[in-house]
Amino acid sequence: MDIQLPGQVKFIIDTLEEAGFEAYAVGGCVRDSIIGRNPQDWDITTVAKPEQVKGLFRRTIDTGIAHGTVTVMLDRNGYEVTTYRIDGTYEDARHPNGVTFTPDLLEDLKRRDFTINAMAYHPERGLVDAFDGIADMRGGVIRCVGDPAERFGEDALRMLRAVRFAAQLGFQVEGCTRQAIADMAPLLGKVSAERIQVELVKLLVSQNPQEMRTLYETGMSAVILPEWDAMMETKQENPHHAYTVGEHTIRVLMHTPQDRILRLAALFHDVAKPVCRTVDEKGVDHFYGHPEQGAVLTRKILRRLKFDNATIDMTARLVAGHDVNPALHDRGVRRAIRRVGMECYPAIFDLKLADILAQSDYERQEKLEALDRYRELYREIMARGDCLSLKELAVDGKDLIELGIPAGRKLGEILSRLLELVVEEPEKNTKEYLTGYTLENLFIR
Ligand code: ATP
Ligand code: MG
Repeated sequence: MDIQLPGQVKFIIDTLEEAGFEAYAVGGCVRDSIIGRNPQDWDITTVAKPEQVKGLFRRTIDTGIAHGTVTVMLDRNGYEVTTYRIDGTYEDARHPNGVTFTPDLLEDLKRRDFTINAMAYHPERGLVDAFDGIADMRGGVIRCVGDPAERFGEDALRMLRAVRFAAQLGFQVEGCTRQAIADMAPLLGKVSAERIQVELVKLLVSQNPQEMRTLYETGMSAVILPEWDAMMETKQENPHHAYTVGEHTIRVLMHTPQDRILRLAALFHDVAKPVCRTVDEKGVDHFYGHPEQGAVLTRKILRRLKFDNATIDMTARLVAGHDVNPALHDRGVRRAIRRVGMECYPAIFDLKLADILAQSDYERQEKLEALDRYRELYREIMARGDCLSLKELAVDGKDLIELGIPAGRKLGEILSRLLELVVEEPEKNTKEYLTGYTLENLFIR
């Protein structure tokens, strides 16, 4: 098994070895190289202590000295060089509470989560694969190093990581590992929201977002995302649908581009259906108000998972706008853009398309044609530069002040009224018309 190490990685390993310290590339980069994926970052593991690593390189950063990690900077690239260690229990993403350094590479590999993540590679000595990671890679299996229950007891996040890696690689979680997850899922409640968020997003943007189903089946989502369980358990007896809310959502995810915001919006687009469900006298399910309620719920969930405000805002807006179906003429689409929010375009089309493709066949052709027309009208509106916000309005606050309108709330209201007017009738977006209209209709001295 030969791996092409980048020159800088080879340089770091050689430098350490020439100084008498064993060193290997390790973990995700070895795994990804073997699969033929481009490693995101290269980690190095070495017998050298952090101070010794620092002594050998010109530029280093103390990333986590207490845990043995020094970042070596070469040009603009950073490489984490970590001393062989045995871990205590984990509190955050990479940093266990207490660590002990060890001179034995095998001990360091033993602390790693999965067999495919526990391989090391040296340019001359080759691959060290003490836990049959290669076999599991061939078999497409995510398997704990050692006893799964023990390993999840040390760090419960590993349960979620197992499913995340399964999703990224298209692998299966091995039977004993999966059983241990089902047994120990409640322990996830002890893990910080920040760590959960990282793994959840990686799962969502992967090629296999249907692994969300595994989160439900193993009982993990009951702990970290109970709203997902409600979706998995809500039926939709209605001609537009063929699946439960959750199974429909899985199909939406699979039809959505692998973009963080879009996948989050897909996950939550129907999150309020369980709470909005009503059944009419014919036994048909309705979900009135679910987009708006869904946006509220989405904000709440994303805040709980400690997402940043920009992500929360954008995701919630897409959820709120996912079921807006404008009248298919310029004015109708301009109104829709104002209502949904300009920043949601063109992403909203990806979400709506995925939503349609994940519904039953009922009226599918009509829905797709309407969506095409919506998109086409949107493009024409943007190409023409129709006024959709105060930015494009032919008058601004200063113009109104010059007309003798005092700065203040009233002036803001007048601008909004003028905007409404030109969204309806773009040809009225001239300074002459709008100042005249203001003096005649909106501003009474
Ligand atoms: P990615 O491609 O997402 O970065 P990765 O495998 O590199 O995947 P990291 O979180 O960057 O994952 O961790 C690097 C390595 O550290 C892993 O391959 C694994 O060997 C080890 N590791 C990371 N987190 C844990 C953990 N919670 N428990 C045990 N080992 C871990
Ligand atoms: Mg990594």
